[in-house]
Amino acid sequence: MSHILLKGGFLIDPVSGVSDFKDILIENGKIKKIEKDISPFAGCEVKDIKDCIISPSFVDIHAHLRDPGQTYKEDIRTGSLAAVAGGYTTVVCMPNTIPALDDASLIRYVIEKGEEVGLCRVLPAGAITKGRKGKELTEMSLLKDAGAVYFTDDGAPVMDSHIMRKAMEFAGSIGSFVADHCEDLSLSSDGVAHEGEIAAALGLPPLPPEAEDTMIARDCILSLHTGMPVHICHLSTKVGVEIVTWAKAMGAKVTAEVTPHHLYLADEEWLDFSCVAKVSPPLREHEDIEAVRWALASGIIDFVATDHAPHAHQEKLLEHHLCPPGMIGLQFALPIVLELVKKDYFDMKRAVEVLSTKPAEKIGLKPPQIKEGELAEFTVFNPTESWEVTEDVIYSKSKNTPLLGRKLVGKVKYTFYNGKLVYKG
Ligand SMILES: [Zn+2]
Repeated sequence: MSHILLKGGFLIDPVSGVSDFKDILIENGKIKKIEKDISPFAGCEVKDIKDCIISPSFVDIHAHLRDPGQTYKEDIRTGSLAAVAGGYTTVVCMPNTIPALDDASLIRYVIEKGEEVGLCRVLPAGAITKGRKGKELTEMSLLKDAGAVYFTDDGAPVMDSHIMRKAMEFAGSIGSFVADHCEDLSLSSDGVAHEGEIAAALGLPPLPPEAEDTMIARDCILSLHTGMPVHICHLSTKVGVEIVTWAKAMGAKVTAEVTPHHLYLADEEWLDFSCVAKVSPPLREHEDIEAVRWALASGIIDFVATDHAPHAHQEKLLEHHLCPPGMIGLQFALPIVLELVKKDYFDMKRAVEVLSTKPAEKIGLKPPQIKEGELAEFTVFNPTESWEVTEDVIYSKSKNTPLLGRKLVGKVKYTFYNGKLVYKG
């Protein structure tokens, strides 16, 4: 028999409502006991987690694991490693692979590969349209039966409103939903940086925020009229927040996510001319950051999703118009969310919700339970421990983040998945 005793931690579980100091005894991978003060005994491995928080493990419904087709950037094993190091045990990977995840066999491939690696739950999102070309709907029922948890052409918007409407109706009718990368390509044109003072000063082609705002508005209106759900990916603008606020008040089944980088980094990251700041949607101005932070606090934005987007070093060295957009995020979500707790945007319970239980609910995943009799699946983190972002501590194959060299506060200490300790920090 193996026994692990976690001693001295503070358990926050929004599902059971527990918010208290609790010790946890794990016997052969199962939670045997959750009590205030459990005494150690012979043969039991004790982990002192004083000053740490025990939380349901995190759920990321938006990450790019690049498999199949671009495994030089990331693969399911390295993506899983980055996930568990960030406290995540469920990751939904995007279908903008090569080929796109628009076929049941590819959906099964991702699930099987994730199970083979076995570090966390890897679930695929299926494409809305064949080849993500925006023209012809995929066989959504078949993809759903194979294990696709929702549908998106992420990386590309569905520009044709009629196709989007049909997609919403069809996905909704089979108990699923579509998620949209909101970007009107005719407005974004060749823009690379948020249209504002920084882009103007640096002479970078501007990308106006209305490229995102108009598509959010269209999707909200379609959702309102069809009565079907839509999920807004990586919401980043203050006007976008207002539109979603309006749509929710009107009763539309709209949900929205925000990325760690849009909560934390502004377009000033471009000032050293490095394309590591290039991401889609672009890093915005401080007013937008303030708006998405408060929207996450109030629930207008439902939860955090990383949009973890690895790219190889040489790709990020290309000129700004050739460099692919995106930055990694799986290991940075927790410290960035904790920074907002420190700054009093919301409390620790909300932090746990936006990283864990709310995204789980969205994809119909049984909320991660920290309960006697269940297999151990939770995250232990120290909210005050600081660490430096260096290439060595990044588990992703790609190191594309403007955060390199900076100090972050909040460190994952242990991640348990399926009864196993899958990460120790
Ligand atoms: Zn996107």
